[in-house]
Amino acid sequence: MRERFHRRSLEHQRPLSTVTMAFTVVAFLCFVAARDFVDGPAVPLAYRLTCAPVLALLVLAIPRAKSTWLFGAIGVAYSLVLTAGIALNIVGVQQPLLWALPAMVVIPICAAPLWLTPTHYFVGSALFYAAAFALLSGESRTHDLDVVAWMWIAAIGMPTSAVYHFGFYRFRRNHFLLESQLAQLAATDPLTGLQNRRSFVKQAERRLDNSQPGARVSAIFLDIDNFKSLNDRFGHAAGDQVLYQVAQALMEETAAEDSVSRVGGEEFAVLLQDGLTGALQTAERLRGAIAAIERPDGYLTASFGVAEHRGGETIMALLDRADEALLRAKHSGRNRVCAERAPPFEPLQLLAGEASAQGGAAARYRWEDYYLASHFQPLYSLSHQKQVGFEALLRGEQDDGTLVPPMVLFAPRPSSDEGALDRASHAVHLAHARTRLPAEAWLFLNILPATFIADGYADKLAAMVCAVGLEPERVILEILESHGGSVDDMSRAAALYRAHGFLIAVDDFGAGQSNLDRLFRIRPDLVKLDGELIRATGHGIEQPILPKLVSLLHHAGMLVVVEGVETTEELILAVESNVDFAQGYLLGRPAAEIAPPESVRRRIDDAFNVIAQGRAHQHALFESEVEPYRSALRLAADALLRGVAMEEAFASLATFERCVSCFILDDAGRQIGRELPGPAWRSVVASLHPVANPRDARWDHRPYFRNAVLLPGVAVASNPYLSLASGRPCIAVTLAVQFAAGRSVIGVELDWSALGLPWPASD
Ligand code: GH3
Ligand code: MG
Ligand code: MG
Repeated sequence: MRERFHRRSLEHQRPLSTVTMAFTVVAFLCFVAARDFVDGPAVPLAYRLTCAPVLALLVLAIPRAKSTWLFGAIGVAYSLVLTAGIALNIVGVQQPLLWALPAMVVIPICAAPLWLTPTHYFVGSALFYAAAFALLSGESRTHDLDVVAWMWIAAIGMPTSAVYHFGFYRFRRNHFLLESQLAQLAATDPLTGLQNRRSFVKQAERRLDNSQPGARVSAIFLDIDNFKSLNDRFGHAAGDQVLYQVAQALMEETAAEDSVSRVGGEEFAVLLQDGLTGALQTAERLRGAIAAIERPDGYLTASFGVAEHRGGETIMALLDRADEALLRAKHSGRNRVCAERAPPFEPLQLLAGEASAQGGAAARYRWEDYYLASHFQPLYSLSHQKQVGFEALLRGEQDDGTLVPPMVLFAPRPSSDEGALDRASHAVHLAHARTRLPAEAWLFLNILPATFIADGYADKLAAMVCAVGLEPERVILEILESHGGSVDDMSRAAALYRAHGFLIAVDDFGAGQSNLDRLFRIRPDLVKLDGELIRATGHGIEQPILPKLVSLLHHAGMLVVVEGVETTEELILAVESNVDFAQGYLLGRPAAEIAPPESVRRRIDDAFNVIAQGRAHQHALFESEVEPYRSALRLAADALLRGVAMEEAFASLATFERCVSCFILDDAGRQIGRELPGPAWRSVVASLHPVANPRDARWDHRPYFRNAVLLPGVAVASNPYLSLASGRPCIAVTLAVQFAAGRSVIGVELDWSALGLPWPASD
């Protein structure tokens, strides 16, 4: 307090002292000039003047004096130099004492109010009088004159200067106390005694300005929950009482150096010297303390927002971010602490930071209320029976490392930016892949269509990939199946990514909006088939459609991945369908660490064995099922060659169980005569009526016709096909026969729609 008062005195006194002392320099020059009009041997002018520049220098030093001590020292030096100057000038005059007397009396009086403290005053005055006495005591004077002179000094000079000094001192002190009181009043909230908003902000600004580089500062913003109801139901006095208690709780739970303020009605702020994690803990403690305060209808609660100061940010910006977090705490149910949103990721910067972290503690990437983590799920090449790549999947973790369900992490929030999270996920996955991705393996990164087509993202992603030491050729971008992104934009963007070397996959084909047009325009290197497609079978039959789809995609030059392989049956089906790569829980779940592939390799190998055995068995079953028809058809051919009429030749075959009809086609594939219906013949399905009559059509393009012609004299069985005549899956057994009139193909169509019938083992 004393110290503060003296410093404040220094501020007040400085201009006054400068002006007063500057005037004494002028008075001294007048004194020097006056000496020239007086008789008697004088010291040369140059000597008499020397004190003037020294005094001027001391005047100039006053505004620069930093401490009260230095200020006092300047005052002492000044009065001593002035005394010496006067003494030099009065040498040789007849009554030197009379010349010096006015100065002896006036100087201490004028200087008195300028001394900052009584100590300065006593020391300065004593030195001044001692110097004056030493200079004047050598002179021989009449006794009367001595008495008069010293009476002047003792009776007028000394008391007046003492009155001036202490009078001024008291005045300044009262002024200072009043000023402090006013400042105190202006800075505190009268109800709680805490800092008010204005003072808090001012102090915080000062703190941020003066904080050491690297020092961490955080702000906690809190608002009492449902305070209005307390006021409304129990009166303002109850509200005030609670506000006071909250203030007390805040003071008790925070450190002495933290600033605590009531910044508004029932809003409080705390500024503390700590990082976000520490501040969150403090906020949690404060929440507990407030929750222990009773209100007439239960207990008080408050909601908290916490933010950490970022370099160069103003206090207002910091408070705004804490306030935003507070708003989220309110919206998500009150009585909780929310942390600020993470700063938008600057992925390249993040990766650069990661590169410099020397493999020590893994960096964590904050996103809103969570940390982002990467889990990797393996993809296997079925033929090679080995891991060829890993799909990176984003996971959220809480502070303590527990996982947040993806539903929560990806839940749309009022201010969430899906694209930002998508871009952040790429940076996080790449940062993790740097250390975890096995050599040679591909990294599959999911990408939203909107991100995929965003201007400049291809370049940015390529830079990010290079920053972690990967080549774009090892990264496969899985374009997610979701709204947004026209196919034109996608195919243009795909070319840009390809130019960098990225491979492109279309995700979830077979689900949602996927269609062949999109596929053929984007021309991905890989197509990931939705897991449901493994289980999909043809309409009315149990045969899978996956093999056909895979062969279609292979024809289009795309490799095929099936996802969602969960059972051994599905794995077998994937292998049998000629799928290139497979992924699913059976082969490996997503995990932070990459699992060794050994057990999975055996599993795939087993699937191959099962298929190899099954194929032979299936072939035998199919052949045994078809053989009776083959023999009967050969007999019918013999009969026809002998000139037997068609009805008679086919009579036996037409009674076989699966026979839909028997027919004869000419060399151009057109039907000769009527077909002969068998037991499986059913009246035509109404919807297929316009194409029901086989006699209208030519059939030489059908595999059953072409295969028969290729192997004349051999009864061949076709693969199942959808019969236009019946709308059911059928197979045909056909035989090319050379009649005298020309070549014909005779055949029988068999209903193959019954469950449990063996299908041919190969296409
Ligand atoms: P929420 O949980 O959303 O924060 O609801 P709330 O009722 O606390 O919020 P609202 O901002 O609607 O109400 C704040 C109330 O605080 C309104 C005002 O009457 C009261 N208030 C403001 N200053 C004082 C004060 O100094 N004393 C008292 N007793 N009440 C105050
Ligand atoms: Mg409130
Ligand atoms: Mg409020």
